[in-house]
Amino acid sequence: MGRLETLKQGQGFNTETQRCNIPLVARLTDEQLRRQLHADHYIEQGLGLDMWNWERDKLIALAVDLAYRVNLHQILKLPLERFCSYLEALADEYFASNTYHNFTHATDVLYVLCHLLLDCNATSRMTEYEIVASFLAAHAHDVGHPGTNNHYQIAANTPLGIKYGESATLETYSADLGQQLLEQYSVLENIPSADRAALISTFRTCILGTDMAQHHTTCLALKHLPIDFYTQNYPPKRPGRTNGESSTHALCLPSLLLHAADISGPCRANLDIWLTRSVAVTREFVQQGDCERKQHISVTESFDRLILQAEGIDGFQRRETEFTKGLVLPYFRDVERVWNGIKPLRVSLEDNIRSWDSLDRKAVTKLWATIFV
Ligand SMILES: [Zn+2]
Repeated sequence: MGRLETLKQGQGFNTETQRCNIPLVARLTDEQLRRQLHADHYIEQGLGLDMWNWERDKLIALAVDLAYRVNLHQILKLPLERFCSYLEALADEYFASNTYHNFTHATDVLYVLCHLLLDCNATSRMTEYEIVASFLAAHAHDVGHPGTNNHYQIAANTPLGIKYGESATLETYSADLGQQLLEQYSVLENIPSADRAALISTFRTCILGTDMAQHHTTCLALKHLPIDFYTQNYPPKRPGRTNGESSTHALCLPSLLLHAADISGPCRANLDIWLTRSVAVTREFVQQGDCERKQHISVTESFDRLILQAEGIDGFQRRETEFTKGLVLPYFRDVERVWNGIKPLRVSLEDNIRSWDSLDRKAVTKLWATIFV
């Protein structure tokens, strides 16, 4: 029986706990929203699925469904009710007021990570605990994000900057907060303690690997690996323990794939999905630029509304192209060299770059203007 059939028959997450004292969101998640997701053929939409305007309960329902599909519930022996409580708490720790680093972005990244795991078959290159660690890390990777970046935490002397210092400031905070939630909701309680420690270690490595300050170092390190390294040499999927060496290494496949998912906006099935994310993140940058100006801190050039508005739509396109061609595309090429499962995303990315010229300029201008409201 396939996973989808199992899901439709209501098996999987501990069914004993499904019918008593379940919070409303869990009932909706289990019985209505997830059925609706399947009725809408969300799986078939692949990288064309855009959940940017979905409400919170539907995002949680999607996460539950993805968890079923990667078999998280059976690997962790986790009751659905407890998992839903954890997901609600996780969602609560994201700031809805952030235009980009919010629970929607977290679910968006989780969705792409699961696409890499399931549709691109990365699960065959990972242990079961690595699959679970990368899933949980994708969902928690920006938890607690205040809407301003690492540089700002130090420049403005914020409590997070003081506590964590200038290296991986927010990534370390999200790893701590995410780990705390996993412990508070006993998500890993039913697996052996040695495996729990290894899983947490991979979880933290994955989140720390999303730090853009590490991006070039990672690209350089990937170039030193043999071609098809992860396709041929990485430990195949097996039950039980993670490989201790790999799980703590910055170049472990779960960590590489989470970073890919985090910057995958330009790799989606169409340019609209890319643009929606770019406008949302630029809007958050501009709001940081406003905070910097208000506090008499030097304003980050690419976050300065006066500069961005003066550059207009051409400047927006130039900056998007620079980021995508200069950072995202080289990364996807470097990863493809060592694991060719990522190839469809690299191809989609190059298609999208070529499509910029055929964009409806009027529509893009309208979207771009929303950055400055
Ligand atoms: Zn992120």
